[in-house]
Amino acid sequence: MPPSGRAIDSGAVRLGLSESEQELQAGLRSWLASALPGLPDPPAAEDWAGRRRFDTDWQRRLFDAGYAGISWPRAYGGREASPGEQLVFLEEMARNRAPNIGVNFVGQLHAGPTLMAEASEEQKALHLPAILRGDHVWCQGFSEPAAGSDLASLRCRATRDGDEYVITGQKIWSSFAQVADFAEVLVRTDPDAPKHKGISWLIVPMQTPGIDVRPIRTASGSSEFSEVFFDEVRVPVTNRVGAENDGWRVAMVTFAFERGTAFVGEVVEAMRLLADIVALAKQSGAWADDGTRAEIGRLAALFDALWALTKRNVSEAAHTGMVGPGGSVLKLQLAEAAQDLADVGRRVLGPAGLAIDVVGGPGGLDGRHVMSERLRSLGLSIGGGTSQIQRNVIAERLLGLPKEPPWTSR
Ligand SMILES: Cc1cc2nc3c(=O)[nH]c(=O)nc-3n(C[C@H](O)[C@H](O)[C@H](O)COP(=O)(O)OP(=O)(O)OC[C@H]3O[C@@H](n4cnc5c(N)ncnc54)[C@H](O)[C@@H]3O)c2cc1C
Repeated sequence: MPPSGRAIDSGAVRLGLSESEQELQAGLRSWLASALPGLPDPPAAEDWAGRRRFDTDWQRRLFDAGYAGISWPRAYGGREASPGEQLVFLEEMARNRAPNIGVNFVGQLHAGPTLMAEASEEQKALHLPAILRGDHVWCQGFSEPAAGSDLASLRCRATRDGDEYVITGQKIWSSFAQVADFAEVLVRTDPDAPKHKGISWLIVPMQTPGIDVRPIRTASGSSEFSEVFFDEVRVPVTNRVGAENDGWRVAMVTFAFERGTAFVGEVVEAMRLLADIVALAKQSGAWADDGTRAEIGRLAALFDALWALTKRNVSEAAHTGMVGPGGSVLKLQLAEAAQDLADVGRRVLGPAGLAIDVVGGPGGLDGRHVMSERLRSLGLSIGGGTSQIQRNVIAERLLGLPKEPPWTSR
């Protein structure tokens, strides 16, 4: 079952929802009851214009109803919800099967928060409301073919020409680049400086001449991410966030958000899938199998623990503005648990699990969904820093083990 909305905050354990949490829950429930039935069907995976429209329309509805940017400060158009309220919001959205964040992921969960922390007032005013309203979609141009885990080796170059940077180079694995309006891009602005010291963080409008986006088709059949080529792309110097050559520090802020609360929705979604699998197992007779029950029990306990960690991370982010290594623990465990969850889903579906062309299988769970979750869960152990890199972070920052040699960075 999806988790309860109880929050753990500042060491105080409450057994029920606070008044403000109850108010939010009731308001959201009644709004969702009227907003969800009128929604069109979600577009096909490769209908990118349709996906953008569907996700940004939903974002606009959230904005108009006062539910966009649930944790963002009011000054930037958000709701400034407490950690407990944020958790109630996420639970209700998942419980009611509201659309997920989709192509708004980068803008909402890490580019926007990075701008709030690091950008100038002009940059904030220009971008934050547009992200919240669903007017602007963002993507991330950090990784390169030879710079993933060792991101500081990036070579995409930005040369200063008066009031502009001229960018030349290549990025890869940029999620949703084909529908993005803006990208957060790391570029090398000083090739002679030590590698962490010569990087800058730029806002790049994706329609600028010289940008070529080439989608990459994945194992699931969808092109979630792209290669992005820059050929003498000119962007104003005023698009830089943070000082010139201080981009590595700004990127660390982005990562703290990317690994921190960005995966909270994934935990809630996984708990929802587990509940569907249990319902189907009981209906189909698979529940009689001791091994299946034991595996489901193990995963239920693991997701309960992940939900408790989520509460801790959300509380920490609310108090300090950022999540520490708890974000790496969450992401590491979540990636592994999500793979096991899809495996048990396939086992419970039995032969129907192989019917990946059939939508709407027994109990509403279909082979296509479970199989695509299995493939997508592999990516969870890579995107936003691989599981090995999360282990390095945990070893160094939580366990106090000796540091890795300096060439490893992400
Ligand atoms: C679903 C998904 C979405 C993504 N979205 C984006 C995006 O929007 N924008 C973007 O810029 N990038 C994105 N990425 C790219 C992602 O950040 C990189 O794939 C990731 O950082 C790993 O880099 P790499 O692929 O170059 O692998 P490599 O760094 O080459 O790693 C290869 C293997 O070596 C291991 N390894 C490397 N260094 C170490 C070390 N020091 N210690 C132990 N093991 C190590 C890795 O864990 C991995 O198993 C996405 C990736 C995925 C899967």
